[in-house]
Amino acid sequence: MQRRKRALITGGAGFLGSHLCHRLLEEGFEVICMDNFITGSPDNIADLIGHPHFHFIQHDVTNYIYVAGPVDYVLHFASPASPIDYQQLPIQTLKVGSLGTHKALGLSLAKGATFLLASTSEVYGDPLVHPQPEDYWGNVNPIGVRGVYDEAKRFAEAMTMAYHRYHGLDTRIARIFNTYGPRMRIDDGRAIPTFITQALQNEPVTVFGDGSQTRSICYVDDLIDGIVRLLFSNVVEPVNLGNPDEISIAALAEEIIQLCHSSSSITYKPLPEDDPKVRQPDITRARELLDWEPRIDRKEGLRRTIEYFQKRLEQQPVAKRWNGS
Ligand code: NAD
Ligand code: UDP
Repeated sequence: MQRRKRALITGGAGFLGSHLCHRLLEEGFEVICMDNFITGSPDNIADLIGHPHFHFIQHDVTNYIYVAGPVDYVLHFASPASPIDYQQLPIQTLKVGSLGTHKALGLSLAKGATFLLASTSEVYGDPLVHPQPEDYWGNVNPIGVRGVYDEAKRFAEAMTMAYHRYHGLDTRIARIFNTYGPRMRIDDGRAIPTFITQALQNEPVTVFGDGSQTRSICYVDDLIDGIVRLLFSNVVEPVNLGNPDEISIAALAEEIIQLCHSSSSITYKPLPEDDPKVRQPDITRARELLDWEPRIDRKEGLRRTIEYFQKRLEQQPVAKRWNGS
């Protein structure tokens, strides 16, 4: 009998990583989830504990990674991802993007595994080209407060391509644009969980700056579908994965207040340093090479996410961490 394909998911107890664990188990994989819980949570994988094809290893991937037996795929998702998280964890963020990526690539090489890097739209920084195609090199402030994340990911992409070119490793690079959905941490500080939590509690919704900056938001199921398609493709060059549906942050706040049937008002706070003014993926490459595009529209995705946060709030009141102070 043919053995099950084995995938290692670093950062598997985080928001995206936990969705990937669930999805690859559904695809018939054996899944090894590795995480140190620095920004993730055991809650995200609690329902998988005891699953016959799921294994969890608590480990900081900036240190040597040991996995017994064969590994066919390594999906490197470990990294703080919320701006508040990575600004509070600057050294850990730089280490997991550099040392962690090196260790995950080394394991892939030793096992002959295909390696997929969770990169980000932040490699484009505060973009001067709009929307952003993959051949845009970006506009990043290396010494700014966001530089710890942006430069770690840019290094991670360079390291991935070096392993591909020098060692012939089979690699993939997903440039992920703002993705949201169930299992985001209620207090992770990103706009969507923050706005939903505030609106559901009828508290002021904190918009930074004048709210004219834009983002293009993708529901998690669509993103995970894109990741799986990329993994099973032979596309080595970076691929943007995100939903081109662009909206200003002020309009997003209004929409969330409405969808939550909330009496919240909007309160304006100072715009954080180097906050990108616009962001929208050009997904031509993903459409052409992966036959992928997002299917879940914004209102539907937000409704599903609000339902999740409503349940979380009933279970667990939240420590306030969203006012930018
Ligand atoms: P998250 O914070 O929920 O998940 C990250 C996970 O990595 C957490 O479980 C954390 O504990 C783990 N981790 C961090 N450092 C680690 C280390 N040294 N060793 C082991 N585990 C470690 O964030 P997320 O939104 O799920 O993001 C996952 C990945 O996707 C990140 O690499 C992020 O940069 C990338 N990404 C996410 C988005 C998005 O919109 N969610 C956008 C672009 C890129
Ligand atoms: N933002 C906001 N209020 C908040 C959190 C975020 O107005 O409470 C803004 C933030 O300044 C940025 C946008 O929302 O312009 C998206 O922020 P997020 O942290 O979700 O991710 P980013 O795209 O900046 O990495």
